[in-house]
Amino acid sequence: MLKKILIVGGVAGGMSAAARIRRLDEKVEIIVFERGEHVSFSNCCLPYHLSGTVATSEELVLTTPQALKANYNIDARVRHEVIDIDRANSEVEVRDLNTGKIYREAYDKLLLSPGAVVPLPPIKGLDDIRFFTVRNVQDVEMIQQHLSDTNAADIIVVGGGFIGVETAENLKMAGYEVNLVEMLPQVLMTFDFDMVQILQKELVDQGVKLYLNEAVSAFEDGQAVLKSGKKMPADVVIMATGSKPDSALAAKSGLELTDRKAIKVDQNFLTSDPDIYAIGDAVEVFYSLSRQTAPLPLAGPAIKQARFVADHMYGRYTMNTGYIGSSCLKVFNYNAAVTGLTENTIKGHNLPVAYDYVYVIPKDMVGIMPEAKNQYLKVIFEMPTGKILGAQCIGRGDVVKRCDVIAAMLKFGPTLEDLKDLELCYAPPFSIARDSVNFAGYVGLNILHGDIKQIHVADIRGLVESGAYFIDSRTKEEFDSGHIKGAVNIPLQELRQRMDEVPKDRAVYLYCRSSTRSYNAVCALQNSGWNNVFLVSGSMLGVSWCEWFEDQRTGREPIVTKYNFN
Ligand SMILES: Cc1cc2nc3c(=O)[nH]c(=O)nc-3n(C[C@H](O)[C@H](O)[C@H](O)COP(=O)(O)OP(=O)(O)OC[C@H]3O[C@@H](n4cnc5c(N)ncnc54)[C@H](O)[C@@H]3O)c2cc1C
Repeated sequence: MLKKILIVGGVAGGMSAAARIRRLDEKVEIIVFERGEHVSFSNCCLPYHLSGTVATSEELVLTTPQALKANYNIDARVRHEVIDIDRANSEVEVRDLNTGKIYREAYDKLLLSPGAVVPLPPIKGLDDIRFFTVRNVQDVEMIQQHLSDTNAADIIVVGGGFIGVETAENLKMAGYEVNLVEMLPQVLMTFDFDMVQILQKELVDQGVKLYLNEAVSAFEDGQAVLKSGKKMPADVVIMATGSKPDSALAAKSGLELTDRKAIKVDQNFLTSDPDIYAIGDAVEVFYSLSRQTAPLPLAGPAIKQARFVADHMYGRYTMNTGYIGSSCLKVFNYNAAVTGLTENTIKGHNLPVAYDYVYVIPKDMVGIMPEAKNQYLKVIFEMPTGKILGAQCIGRGDVVKRCDVIAAMLKFGPTLEDLKDLELCYAPPFSIARDSVNFAGYVGLNILHGDIKQIHVADIRGLVESGAYFIDSRTKEEFDSGHIKGAVNIPLQELRQRMDEVPKDRAVYLYCRSSTRSYNAVCALQNSGWNNVFLVSGSMLGVSWCEWFEDQRTGREPIVTKYNFN
């Protein structure tokens, strides 16, 4: 029988575990140590306080130690830091940060949910400036205070991951000039390069100054000096340079760590000590699609692991089926979601996976509904099995639902055939009768079975520059309002009369607005004896989104006479 369970970290994982343990055992003593000011605050809503979307910082705090005592008989001690674990005697050493007093508490089981820290790059002068991170309620309160004390107008956000982008968005919404500096060629590495272009354009359209392939190399004389030599005022600097498992306490206590310095856990989230569990941002999980272990710093997994370990402590075993990694965010007027593997992951981790993907741009509801919006959906599948590996969906409407559908399927090893057959709810204000995910299944099967050949938007520039033959299947009016340079306009309606204009001795690439008309044109040509025709997946919309940002950033020659984003 367990008499006393101690928990380190009182937010997502730690507090969820404490509550579950109490529901399983009315008698056990539960003490949660949290070194910060608050337990159970909403980390995920922190950026939204910077814009006033969450009006007060008090709202970010979801409960108090008093309420936890009253409702759950949990002893939650804020501003109490666990500074060591005496594993031989099953005790922790705690520092009361209010009094400085150090004391010990014994445990039967110990759970570590200490979260992550922001890894700070070695930037010259960083130690000499006041900079902020966005990890807890105090952080955002301090940022607000500093902004009002200094009257600063310009802000630098270093790092274009989820937290950096959300922070930049919310500070821009609050009226500040925001410079977002990212050392990689794109923000949000969880999305592929072709997809993230949509979000980068939205950031720029909304006035965020986006610096890619850039890095702050030094802070000097109140300014940030970028790698390129550019200087900008450094009155307010927010370091959003990622998330690193906080394993300092575990390391000090001699618990095993992984190569990435996360706390090493087994399939039951037990550390190398059989009485100590660890969960959340501090550990690595098994990714069932890549079959690798890596951190997954997201709230949902932390909370589910909390239930898992609480159950495990009480002999209620759960299968650890691994993780697929699903996340979403809002970037001003756009929503974006991703699940499973991306090209970035496959290439970045050198996974031995043969794959292809579909990129479809259907409306999110029946097109004649006034609220209908484009959705940009990319579904990656394995070749030659057609097994779905991952999906990304971006748009101004309900794209998260589409990714969630695929995320749910990914738990069960789906194929394109399953996607095609999914039976989803439909009425005009919500979707189309053949929803985008069904549509992606149809197109994917066409590719898989070799019914059509496609070319991806990311490859169009090279083809245009090499003088490839493009046919634009839209109307003359659409063609005149912007097309791929050098393309020949043969509207679908005229194709059957003008087939003799289409060469047979070279590859022919067909596009329209979103690939519906050009797909029909490809079919018509193939059924009439052409065997070297390719569908430009994503068509004019896809090419425009894929090209615009880099055209602006680099000043290179556009490959379209005019972009089309609608
Ligand atoms: C700004 C922001 C936005 C986010 N947005 C999203 C989102 O939209 N969706 C999503 O899924 N996830 C999001 N996350 C990630 C999510 O919040 C984390 O994955 C989740 O909170 C991890 O839970 P955890 O219990 O491992 O760590 P945390 O919730 O971070 O809790 C760890 C706590 O442990 C305390 N601690 C550490 N060491 C000690 C010690 N020695 N003694 C006492 N206390 C200690 C820390 O002070 C910290 O409060 C966001 C995170 C941030 C910071």
